[in-house]
Amino acid sequence: MPTHNNVTWHSTYLLGVALLLPIGTIVLVTYFFARMNPFAPEIHSDPWAFSIIAVAGGLSALMATLLALFASATYRARVRFENEYRQLQRFLNEDVAKERTRLMRNLDLVSAAQQVSMAIKQEVDFERILSVVLEQLEHFAHSDSIAVFTIDENGKANVRAERRQGVDRFPPILVEGAIECSLVDDAVRIGRQVRELNEKTGEFVLAVYFSTPDGVRGVVRIARNVADEPDFQDEMPAYEQAMAQLVRMVSLGLKTASMWDRAIKDEKTGLYNANHYQDQMKRQVAIAQRTGAPLSLIMLDVDKFKHINDTYGHLAGDTVLAEISNILKREARESDTPYRYGGEELCIVCCGTTEEDAAKAAERMRHKIACTEFYDDRGRLLPISASIGVAEFDPARMKSEKDLKEACDRALYVAKEGGRNLVVVCEGEEKFTKLERSGDPGQEIKRRLGLAGDNSPLDGDNDPAPITDVKAASARAQLGESIDKLATGLADVVGADSRRARVVDTVVREATEFLTRNLSARLGGSLPTEEARPKPKRKRRSKKAESADAPAPESDAEVKPKRKPARRKSKKKLQEEAEAAIKALQAEEDAALKADLSAEALAKAESDRLDYLTDEEGEQLAKGDAPSKRLRKAVRKSA
Ligand code: GH3
Ligand code: MG
Ligand code: MG
Repeated sequence: MPTHNNVTWHSTYLLGVALLLPIGTIVLVTYFFARMNPFAPEIHSDPWAFSIIAVAGGLSALMATLLALFASATYRARVRFENEYRQLQRFLNEDVAKERTRLMRNLDLVSAAQQVSMAIKQEVDFERILSVVLEQLEHFAHSDSIAVFTIDENGKANVRAERRQGVDRFPPILVEGAIECSLVDDAVRIGRQVRELNEKTGEFVLAVYFSTPDGVRGVVRIARNVADEPDFQDEMPAYEQAMAQLVRMVSLGLKTASMWDRAIKDEKTGLYNANHYQDQMKRQVAIAQRTGAPLSLIMLDVDKFKHINDTYGHLAGDTVLAEISNILKREARESDTPYRYGGEELCIVCCGTTEEDAAKAAERMRHKIACTEFYDDRGRLLPISASIGVAEFDPARMKSEKDLKEACDRALYVAKEGGRNLVVVCEGEEKFTKLERSGDPGQEIKRRLGLAGDNSPLDGDNDPAPITDVKAASARAQLGESIDKLATGLADVVGADSRRARVVDTVVREATEFLTRNLSARLGGSLPTEEARPKPKRKRRSKKAESADAPAPESDAEVKPKRKPARRKSKKKLQEEAEAAIKALQAEEDAALKADLSAEALAKAESDRLDYLTDEEGEQLAKGDAPSKRLRKAVRKSA
């Protein structure tokens, strides 16, 4: 292939030859004419004329040569300059491309910052702000997964949010361990940005540490697969720098978000607080009034919460509240927002939802709470259920959010009066509908069995205690079996009938109390002592003292002699007792129905059959009298 230099020299030769040929011809012809010209013979003899012609010819030849050399030099210079120009252009293009990328990146950065700041201004929810932040980071970083961690006072990084393939996840769905957090601890430890590029897999991870002047610290972890990007290595420093800038901006956003969060959220439950409820409700009611879109309110109050506080301590109460709040958060739809209205009253604002749908959601939540096992820090199962009132905003009857709240409160009151662990819908001024209990009533009953037994052998989550005493183990297994059978049998009897389920609740509680005492007596064990609990109303053994072979607490020795030795009852007798109790309560229920009592009277009658024991009954049970006075009364009545 001819190079530029070859081409230059070839063309120079050609030019030289092309110029020298005519010049040589001119010189020869001139010489010939000077020598042979027959018309001017005097020239032949005039040496001057010959010399002038010869010099003129020589000068012409010289000039032609110089001209040729000049032309060749010019040509070569042109070619060289053209080459340089081309090279320069290439460099320039590369620089421009680089500059363009940098500018685009900055533009993206500005746009991301704008989105984040807009989110901070418009949104009040920490999670929503985080969601925008994550979306912007993902777009900007072209990441596969991105996670935001905040560092607590102990220097531990807690994951606050993750976005993976366009899907956001937040606690409580986002659990520790389910999230990749390599490099995060390194970034926390050295307080700087850390990166890692796996050359084999092309996995690039960047953990960017951030801290704000007021002490918010955290790490943003960005993972990106760069296997298909051979130029990434060159880009990496710029990429890291840009990410650091964005994360700095994001950290300010997070700071504002957490400030917002503190203003509108309740610390104990993580739900929005009552102030925020008022603000949002005013807005939602205005929207409902203007557009006619349905708006419903669900009001939930934990049943006998004072009893939980008094018996198991406030700490247990707080834990229960937090767990119920998590259930609401999980069960609520995107358009539903849960709030802590006050104390142990929680509510859910359901936008664009009719009363009917809200009631369904409420029942789902009630069932979920009733089936959840809540424990205190000593492992004791807590008797938790919730009553729920539901109402829909009716522009014809209601003027403001206060009216909706009032309707909901009244429904809740009816639910409490109606026996608790119930959902009641307010359908008009004085029209209330009790919802049939949904879900598998057997499930609720089983949980209650576990509850009544407290140290129930049905508790399948714990590892069984090592068998040291064969007699005790066999008694425990036998009791476990009979309770299981009873629960299954009762669940069959109840079917989907929620009215029966409530009756069975009572029976189950009585029966299992009795069975458990029976077990204690057979094992020569004991019921918990006064000291074992903060303020006991209902005696139960703590889980820790549960294992059959564990030494009984000292104070048990004082309680034991007071208790009558429990008699051993056959399974058949127990079943008969339970059946009689069911019959008695059903008869009572039917009588109430037949008498077509007013809603209030019916509610009162039902509320008499509380799911919980009165203080007096608690004492009785502690002494070992079973079944309770109430149940005995019911049985006597039926007889
Ligand atoms: P019911 O609603 O079934 O009629 O009975 P209740 O015992 O729940 O009655 P009430 O609603 O009057 O009692 C509310 C109790 O809740 C009183 C208060 O001690 C307790 N409580 C309110 N807020 C908190 C809290 O944040 N933590 C704890 N542990 N207890 C709370
Ligand atoms: Mg209350
Ligand atoms: Mg309550």
